[in-house]
Amino acid sequence: MRKPLISGKTKLLGIIGDPVTHSMSPVMQNAAIAHLGLDYIYVPFPVLPDRIEAAIAGFTAIGVQGFNITIPHKQAIIPYLTEISDEAKAVGAVNTAWRTEQGWSGTNTDVIGFLAPLRSLDWDWRQVTPIVLGNGGAARAVVAGFAKLGCPKLHLVGRSSEKLEQFVTSWQRSPLQIELIPRTWDALDELIAIASLLVNTTPIGMHPHTQASPLSDEQMKRLPSSAIAYDLIYTPSPTQFLRQAAAQGAQTIDGTEMLVHQGAAALEQWVGHPAPIEIMRQALQQQLVAL
Ligand code: NAP
Repeated sequence: MRKPLISGKTKLLGIIGDPVTHSMSPVMQNAAIAHLGLDYIYVPFPVLPDRIEAAIAGFTAIGVQGFNITIPHKQAIIPYLTEISDEAKAVGAVNTAWRTEQGWSGTNTDVIGFLAPLRSLDWDWRQVTPIVLGNGGAARAVVAGFAKLGCPKLHLVGRSSEKLEQFVTSWQRSPLQIELIPRTWDALDELIAIASLLVNTTPIGMHPHTQASPLSDEQMKRLPSSAIAYDLIYTPSPTQFLRQAAAQGAQTIDGTEMLVHQGAAALEQWVGHPAPIEIMRQALQQQLVAL
């Protein structure tokens, strides 16, 4: 007889968000769980902002083992956790929580996810000054990643001097130190010409605005062919930003690997077993094609 998918012993994992219906994580995580033959199930939990405390209490009561956190709860969850990692402190947001004897611990696996495609590069990171476009939530994971790699400084490019200032000030309290050079968009003409690693953390170019790019064709023509352009966006793939960079001969990285590896890091934290990266990648790609 075929083993039932859910038994009396099946352990619960999941994701909280509002909304949560768009999440790629259930398909990706359940594909990995099935591949590993683990007795877990990963479920989407829609949780309204004023119900977080009740949801966490419920998770504690019913034995949920771990869960992801998506918009808008990534900061709001923090007071309900007994411990958070340096990555989560630096980013100021938690996307993965797991049960401990004391309560719930949390981290931000976007940092690991962002770094995954960069780990294979044979670069002396102490010599690299990345350029980061955008200063929102994802930019914080990117900055934390570059701090972990050992980059001494980076250019942080935003459209609002006030928001840039707030970002730089808040980073002074971060456990992951790196010098941030705030730059407004008008500095880009000069910066692109010396770029070695250019990261787009803005949503410009994301589906359905697939012809948009944070940079003009003219600006991108200044990009050295030795540079790497990294776009956090995973739909479409490639984005217009990456197409422009490829036309200059630059190497390109899209956001798919970050998404896969943040999920893989979460699964490994919950089940204590290496994640099947290729299975998760395939599940994600199939879901993206079906969008
Ligand atoms: P966010 O917190 O809203 O930040 C977006 C940033 O982009 C802000 O700094 C914003 O500037 C800037 N921006 C937006 N529109 C702009 C425009 N027209 N011109 C100049 N700057 C603009 O969003 P987020 O959570 O950081 O997400 C950003 C992107 O990263 C999204 O596309 C998301 O899908 C992607 N992402 C991917 C992964 C992955 O796993 N691959 C993970 C996380 C995020 P202001 O601050 O001035 O408004």
